[in-house]
This record gives sequence, C-alpha cells and structure tokens, in this order.
Amino acid sequence: MPMTLPHTADLVIIGAGAIGCSTAWHLAQAGITNIVVVEMGQVGSGSSSKSASMLSLQFGRDETMARLAQHAYVRYMRFEEEIGVPIDFRPIGWLNLATAAEADALRPEAAMLQSLGINTELLAPDEIKRRYPLLNVDDIIVGTYGPDDGPFDPHMILWGYVKRASQHGVRFLQGVKATGITQRGGRVTAVETDAGTIATPLVINAAGPWAIEVGRWAGLDIPILNSARSILVTAPLAAVPADHPFVEDLSVEWYFRPEIDGVLMGMGKRPAPDLNTATPPAMIDAMIDAAVHRVPVLAQAELLTAWTGIRPLTADGYPIVGAAPGIDGILLNCGWGGVGIIMAPIAGQLLADLVTSGRSDLVDVGRFSLSRFDTH
Ligand SMILES: Cc1cc2nc3c(=O)[nH]c(=O)nc-3n(C[C@H](O)[C@H](O)[C@H](O)COP(=O)(O)OP(=O)(O)OC[C@H]3O[C@@H](n4cnc5c(N)ncnc54)[C@H](O)[C@@H]3O)c2cc1C
Repeated sequence: MPMTLPHTADLVIIGAGAIGCSTAWHLAQAGITNIVVVEMGQVGSGSSSKSASMLSLQFGRDETMARLAQHAYVRYMRFEEEIGVPIDFRPIGWLNLATAAEADALRPEAAMLQSLGINTELLAPDEIKRRYPLLNVDDIIVGTYGPDDGPFDPHMILWGYVKRASQHGVRFLQGVKATGITQRGGRVTAVETDAGTIATPLVINAAGPWAIEVGRWAGLDIPILNSARSILVTAPLAAVPADHPFVEDLSVEWYFRPEIDGVLMGMGKRPAPDLNTATPPAMIDAMIDAAVHRVPVLAQAELLTAWTGIRPLTADGYPIVGAAPGIDGILLNCGWGGVGIIMAPIAGQLLADLVTSGRSDLVDVGRFSLSRFDTH
C-alpha cells in the first residue's frame, strides 16, 4: 500500500469496505484506473469485517433485491476464476422458521423466490424436526429452506478486489481519513484528507455507516438508519454438525450456523446513530435466551467471543446508489444494509455502469436514487 498522498486522481472513493473495494475493481476493469481509495482504518475494518459472512438467495424480501442476489450469486460462483482468490463458500443451506406471527408473510415470500427460480422449499414443522432434530419447533407454523446458501469469507473477497484493482493501478490509502469535499460552482474539485488534498472531479461515497457524515460535507441528507447487530461465537460444540444449515428464527430475528467447531449466532436491530459498537450485556442475555429456546442443546455452549457491527439500513430496504442531486461530481454507493457482502459485486458493477454509460442493464438504478426520499 503506497503511503504518499497523490495530489490528483480521476476519481476518489471514500471507504474500503466491501462496497468501496468492489467499486474500485469494477471501475478499473472498465478502464478507469486513476483512482484513489481513502480508508481511515484498514481495508474492511468497518462493517465488512463484522458480518455473519452469509451468501444468501433467501434474504431477498422483494423481487428487485432477490433478482440482484441471483446475479450476485452467479458472480460469486465465478469469483475465483475472475479474481484469482478462493472465497471458501460452503453451501449448507438456509432455513427460515416462522411462528404464527410471521407465517403469513413468509409463505408469499417463498412463492416469490420460487417464481424467480430460486430453490426454496416450504416445510411443515414435523418435517423440520425430522431433518434437524436439534431444533425446537413447538411454536413453529412453517419453515422455508434454500439449499444453495451458506457462509463464505468476506476477507478473501475484499483482498481479492484490492489485489486485482491494485494490479490495474488503483491506489488504496489505509489510515487516511477524508475530512471534506471541496466544490466550486456546484462541481466537486477535491477531497480533503487528514494527509492533504486530492484534486479530483469525481467522488464516490462508499463510507458505509459513515456515509451520512460524508454526505453532510456536501450538504446532503442521506437517510441511512444505522443499526447495531451483535454476533456471538461459541467454543467447540460436538452436538452441532458442521453441515447444519444456517437457521433464522424470524420471531426474534435470531440466527445461528456452524462456525469451525462451534456455532456463530447473531441478533439485534438497535438504532445506533452514534455508531456505538459496544456489545451490551442485555443483548448477550437476549441472544442466549433465543438460542436456548430454539436450539436447547446450545445451553451447553461456552461463549468464546462476541462483537457488534453496524448495518446501514434504509427505510425501504433498497440501497442508495447514483448521483447526488444538485451537485456535479458526487456518486453514492451506500445504504446496503444487511446485504452488503452478498451484493458487493452488484454494487461495484452498478457504479461502473453509471460512470461509463449513465445507466445499468442490471436494474433501473433510478429506484435506488437518493431523491426517492423526501428528506425535506
Ligand atoms: C452483525 C452483522 C452481520 C451481517 N451479516 C451479513 C451477511 O451475512 N451477509 C451480508 O451480505 N451482509 C451482512 N451484514 C451487512 C454488511 O456487513 C454490510 O452491508 C457491509 O459490510 C457494508 O459494506 P460497506 O462497504 O458499505 O461499509 P463498511 O464495510 O463499513 O465500509 C465503509 C468504510 O469506510 C471507511 N470510512 C468511513 N468514513 C471514512 C472517512 N471519512 N475517510 C476514510 N474512510 C472512511 C470506514 O472505515 C469503512 O472501512 C452484516 C452486518 C452486521 C453488522
């Protein structure tokens, strides 16, 4: 990683998470290589290193996002061929569990996924119990199972994008914090950093949960709803087989999956406007309660480690992608919520499409524009 600050660039990306790194690679691949990526920490040190590391087709809650997940999935299946780095994908499957309160929403969602050709089975509680005897299904009305989902390695994904983009000449500056965006006559002229000024006509805001702050420098109100979610990982637990599917209990939005010889579990949607990533003891207690109710054998598990990350959610579940209204030279690629790792190849492709041709064949990017929100 070069340490000297370039004085000029055709384009500056703020943030080297999954979205910024993928954007850098896709732009480089499209022939735009005089790019500087500024990252105040290390590559991936924001939300992208805090995830549950799941690649999922079951997560798409509407057709637009489910279709994009299908595209992303295809890209990941070819990732090693394209980028030259393995992603350690293990398709253990994804099982959603609905109690009476969620069942009526889950059934049409499964039908929508099936209509798009996404492998999804509806399962009755006795069938769930037969296949996965560790689960308590006493209060479950219906489940859905997708066999094609599973964990992969976000670190390898980020590393792959950085490596390939760097080979094309993109410069990643770690430990450099962007501090402002300079404009003249409604056009961007530079990005200010704590290491100096980079003159540029184009800035991409890929700052994840910090995109709100970066937007403010340009007078933008970016309505991201930052939300904290915690993960617990247990010590080895022989009772949970390594090929057990990822299971989400929709009633409490708690999930678990095997992780090495133990299990990883996640929960929480705590508003976090302050970006606080402490893990409150009450959150740990709530996760243990949810775990022991749904998977009684987890009562024997010993806690190994815990962390909390921020999901940059939006009110309608769509990301915020595209030009910033009223300013020439700012593009947004943020608000990817709980699917930023899954969608990274799409997020990068959309930005490359917008920069090179102003549109994308993948989706009508207009529906992701900042102006869909009435922020006044
Ligand atoms: C507990 C949890 C579980 C999750 N599980 C999954 C999952 O299984 N699958 C999935 O797809 N997604 C998951 N997500 C969501 C996923 O992690 C995010 O959607 C994704 O990481 C967002 O990527 P990003 O690049 O937008 O943000 P980030 O990874 O946060 O990257 C933004 C970067 O910008 C940098 N930055 C910010 N401000 C500045 C500045 N002023 N100057 C320089 N650099 C700056 C930050 O340091 C950071 O590295 C999960 C999230 C959490 C918290």
